[in-house]
Amino acid sequence: MKRDRTLRARQKLVDDLPITGELLRGTLLERVVRHKTGCASCARGEGHTVSVLTVSYAGGHPGGRSRQLSVRRERVAEVQRWLDNYQRLKQAIEAICEVNHELLRPDRTPKPGRPRRD
Ligand SMILES: [Zn+2]
Repeated sequence: MKRDRTLRARQKLVDDLPITGELLRGTLLERVVRHKTGCASCARGEGHTVSVLTVSYAGGHPGGRSRQLSVRRERVAEVQRWLDNYQRLKQAIEAICEVNHELLRPDRTPKPGRPRRD
C-alpha cells in the first residue's frame, strides 16, 4: 500500500535527522573596519577584516528586526559549521513536510466491502 511506503520513507527521514545542538541561523559576512586615527594599517588604507553574524527576525525582536554579532577569527570555521548544521536540519525538516503532503492526499485505494472476482 502506498501509504505504508510513504510512512516508511518518512520514518527513514526522521531516523536520519541531523540532530545537534550546534545550530546557528543567519549569515556570516565579512566587513572591513577602518580606524580614523592612530592605526598604521588603516592609514595605509588597508583596514581590518572582521566577521559578523547577521541574524534576521521575521516576527520582530526586542532588539529590532535583525541582530549582528561579531565573530572572532578563530571561531569563524566553527560558526560556519553551525550554520551548515542549521541548513541541513532545515532541509531535512522540509523533506519530511513534503512527505506529509503525500499523506494528506485523499486515499485512492478501493473501498473494502466490494468483493472482487479473481
Ligand atoms: Zn586600524
